[in-house]
Amino acid sequence: MVSIDGSRGEGGGQVLRTALGLSLVTGRAFSITNIRGKRKKPGLLRQHLTAVLAAAEIGNATVQGAEIKSGCLTFEPGTVTAGDYRFSIGTAGSCTLVLQAILPALLNAGRAWQITLEGGTHNPFAPSFDYLETTFFGILRSMGVHIDAELIRPGFFPAGGGKIRFRIEPPKTLKPIHFDYLTRTQCRATAVCAELPGHIGQRELKKIIKKLQLDNDQTQLIQHHKYGPGNVVSIFVESDQLTETFVGFGQTKVRAERVAGRIIGQVKKYLQTGVAVGPYLADQLLVPLALSGKGRFLTSQPTNHTLTNIEVIRQFLDIQIEVSQIDEVVWQISM
Ligand code: ATP
Repeated sequence: MVSIDGSRGEGGGQVLRTALGLSLVTGRAFSITNIRGKRKKPGLLRQHLTAVLAAAEIGNATVQGAEIKSGCLTFEPGTVTAGDYRFSIGTAGSCTLVLQAILPALLNAGRAWQITLEGGTHNPFAPSFDYLETTFFGILRSMGVHIDAELIRPGFFPAGGGKIRFRIEPPKTLKPIHFDYLTRTQCRATAVCAELPGHIGQRELKKIIKKLQLDNDQTQLIQHHKYGPGNVVSIFVESDQLTETFVGFGQTKVRAERVAGRIIGQVKKYLQTGVAVGPYLADQLLVPLALSGKGRFLTSQPTNHTLTNIEVIRQFLDIQIEVSQIDEVVWQISM
């Protein structure tokens, strides 16, 4: 049985999600203590519990400790069964993070899946649906995975109520990934206003147009008269290598220009560093990279999420993941 201390390193939900996914893929049982031990409210929240239950359902697992606020858990996987599944978080907890927990099994089983997830689709501190579809699934497609993803309706914090559906069919073997320095970049941006005045999105886009020198037709304002209130602004940086996505969320008492300004800063830093894989993508790419068995990418200084995720992956898979510094701002992660 693999034994995991959930408070080590980053000490958040990703430790649990990576363990669930790799347990399903390897058939190795695990026990985890101090779940989310470094968070203000440790233990399983709804999103994490849904991830545990989803992994248990698709993997016919035996689980102990799957309760709200639980700080420890044992998970013994059975046979992973592909098919049509629906998981509902019941709060605005992130659908894309629930997906993170089961994705390894979906990439490995060699059969077709349809997964429907209900909850938050555009959450701060998690990949948004647009990030998932454009950036992350874009890379999985380049690895040979067939994916159709559909945002049936958006769900914003705190109301939730969003719904996404995707169909996924992995290839026999995943193609390795190699991402180096950025070449031929081009930006575009979208702003979504759900049950909020359109001027919020217009002001965000105006600032982005000015600061990143875009044309009007490289931006799009999307308005919904339901599903809100919610405002999300995304900048997509397309390059020869991949598309990175930077996402900001409107907040009460924060000016639209400020919301846009924050992600403009992230985009400028990304372009300046000049490597294809941004800091969030780096931690998320590790599992697909490990499952493909070979590959490498350049990124900026690894975050705690990235370093901790590597440690968890090493506990399940017998592979070498190397992290080496190339220069002042560039690191390479290779396998
Ligand atoms: P907690 O840490 O409270 O348990 P959590 O379950 O939300 O929270 P984390 O362990 O913090 O999980 O993991 C968050 C994940 O969301 C990471 O994979 C990270 O890369 C991703 N993420 C966070 N912010 C963004 C963002 N702006 N864009 C894309 N991905 C993001």
